[in-house]
Amino acid sequence: MNLEKILYKDELSKEEIIFLLNLSDERDLQKLFNRADEVRAKYCGDEVHLRGIIDFSNYCEQNCLYCGLRADNTKLQRYRMSPEEIIETAKQIINSGIFTIVLQSGEDNYYDTDLIAYIIYSIKQIADVAITLSLGERGFDEYQTWRIAGADRYLLKHETANPKLYSIYHLHQQLNERIAHLKFLKKLGYQVGSGNMIGLPMQTIEDIADDILLCKELDLDMAAFGPFIPSPFTPYRNKKPASVELTLKTMAVARIVLKSVHIPATTALATIDEDGRIKGLKAGANVVMPDFTPFPYREQYQIYANRKCMSDDPKSCRSCLQLQIESIGRKISTSRGDSLKMHLNS
Ligand code: SAH
Ligand code: SF4
Repeated sequence: MNLEKILYKDELSKEEIIFLLNLSDERDLQKLFNRADEVRAKYCGDEVHLRGIIDFSNYCEQNCLYCGLRADNTKLQRYRMSPEEIIETAKQIINSGIFTIVLQSGEDNYYDTDLIAYIIYSIKQIADVAITLSLGERGFDEYQTWRIAGADRYLLKHETANPKLYSIYHLHQQLNERIAHLKFLKKLGYQVGSGNMIGLPMQTIEDIADDILLCKELDLDMAAFGPFIPSPFTPYRNKKPASVELTLKTMAVARIVLKSVHIPATTALATIDEDGRIKGLKAGANVVMPDFTPFPYREQYQIYANRKCMSDDPKSCRSCLQLQIESIGRKISTSRGDSLKMHLNS
């Protein structure tokens, strides 16, 4: 196959995606990242969107084999933030000039339909910010209520597009159910984010190609490709972490295939590589999601080990990110950074 030709094609076949994911020569990789950067500039511009995350509860009813928050992990000290604490943290995010707030937690039904709706509504009263929910799989009626209460976006990763692997990682969940949730969310008018984890046990390059193609089929507004990092007290604690190179290749190929979609340089990537954020932003990413979870909760949100930026003060975090982003000739966006897709504006 001819690398240059593939990089400039409008549509890529699965075989071509696999070919790109298998590149290993340093010069070929540089060509791939440069092309992804070019496509990012064309469809997203030079602005980097910041999304302020509040990890408001680490209780979880699920048992995903890879995750430190899984219900069976009895070693983890659990916490729940009160609605007042969550709303107060949202205020701090808004005051630091960030216009998207991500409310993230384990699957924790302690926060029922009304409580989440109250939190969304209260934050919306403060300012015209976008609210992204990342609460796992919840009821279809709940998604609807929260949309009416003002939620704009929903983030629910498909994790793997391989149905067999999906059923192994999630004993009581199935891939087709997750896809049904994503489609319903889209129908309700949410801007929808999904994506995978790279380097999960048993996953192949072909599976990753399918992940990218599933993101395309779902016509997502945001797609996140994060590296798997083994987490203590989980069945996968002794597995190998994802390779930085494969993570960057996946992000770059995804940018070339998906074009007008938001792609984050994840905290997980920054955790496995000192310069992960910058490398990600140069390989197709246009979003960064700083963590605003207050102490002491932040240290207890242990999805995986040694999460990056655990000791940062939220305010200094923004200036640190600004320096990093400006050092590569990009700038922090002053807008909400809504979907890049036209259908939402019509
Ligand atoms: N409970 C919600 C949101 C919190 S988990 C949900 O599952 O959607 C957010 C993300 O953390 C998951 O989508 C998963 O991709 C990621 N994650 C979990 N365990 C991880 C690990 N060991 N390494 C890297 N990412 C992990
Ligand atoms: Fe719970 Fe989400 Fe972790 Fe699964 S990935 S155990 S749903 S927090």
